[in-house]
Amino acid sequence: MKTLLSAITLATAAAATGSATAAPTFNFSFIAGTSMQAQQGFIAAAALWSSHLTDDVTINLTVGFNPLAPGILGQAQSAQQLYSYTDFRTGLAADASTMADATAVGHLPGGNSFGMLLNRTANSPNGAGSALPYLDNDGDANNRGVRITTAEAKAIGLGVMPQTLSNCIGTCDGFIQFSSNFTFDFNPNDGIALNAFDFVGVAAHEIGHTLGFISGVDILDINSSGTFFNDNQFTYVSGLDLFRYSADSAAQGVIDWTADTRNKYFSIDGGATPGPQFSTGTVHGDGRQASHWKDNLFIGLMDPTAGMGERLSISGNDLLAMDVIGWDVPAIPEPSTYAMLGAGLLLLGGRASRETKIFRKGTK
Ligand SMILES: [Zn+2]
Repeated sequence: MKTLLSAITLATAAAATGSATAAPTFNFSFIAGTSMQAQQGFIAAAALWSSHLTDDVTINLTVGFNPLAPGILGQAQSAQQLYSYTDFRTGLAADASTMADATAVGHLPGGNSFGMLLNRTANSPNGAGSALPYLDNDGDANNRGVRITTAEAKAIGLGVMPQTLSNCIGTCDGFIQFSSNFTFDFNPNDGIALNAFDFVGVAAHEIGHTLGFISGVDILDINSSGTFFNDNQFTYVSGLDLFRYSADSAAQGVIDWTADTRNKYFSIDGGATPGPQFSTGTVHGDGRQASHWKDNLFIGLMDPTAGMGERLSISGNDLLAMDVIGWDVPAIPEPSTYAMLGAGLLLLGGRASRETKIFRKGTK
């Protein structure tokens, strides 16, 4: 049986430096067998996020280090809660602190529901399970609810029902598992060994999912082969999904929540200005979970794969996404800064094995 080895509270970056600025506090519970190196790696990964975010919230995570399925470096399961779209938007508006927040909130649909391009539902007007996208703006359950991680809800300031997940120790906002089947480099500060994966970077990636970088399109994608469900059963639109567009959906003034291979992109102005692309799904999309940036485009930490020798870093794109879904991000790097990051990674040339070493977010 899994038992508690130790629980460590990470002092916030702010407390450590004596600054008055707030930052998230991460409380870790480590499952027995999680090495001290791995525990310290998680604490370092959490500190990366805490150095960028100023929300005064406490996030509880349980972490384990066990053998996982082949090709999976790590996976995260997040506690989630369903809110009305109106409460979510009202909360975001009250929490807005940056220009990007103002733009993002200003372009969210008014009223108590939002429309979307959707496909593969049992009640599609194009036929049950049809891959052909259709406009779903009938205002029923999936158009009126937003399901976000409890960590994100805390950042926004929404009321959160304490939860636990099946493998968590006590109340938790997320359960993160690492695969002990890989060689990891636990110290990114001197570069990542060419035969190893960046442990702190992968840990930060998994924490990123629990902070709210998720897409409910994965639920549609993995549950729509052979048997199909009505649109109103897919009450899994995430906060991030409200900024998920395609050229087709932007033309109709709605988000794109389809599972298919058309390009989907992040946009904070209702789809008018395309931002970085998203992955589109493991079953009906590009083979990567929709809860990620597009693979191999050097968009940011929330890219779905990692290569040996590759150091993973939080990018301006990652921070912008976190900002508009409810986190407080006082400083987002200029685009030129993260363009350089991509170039640097290309020069490293260590991404050969990316295709087989995939991150994965746990399915619910
Ligand atoms: Zn992931």
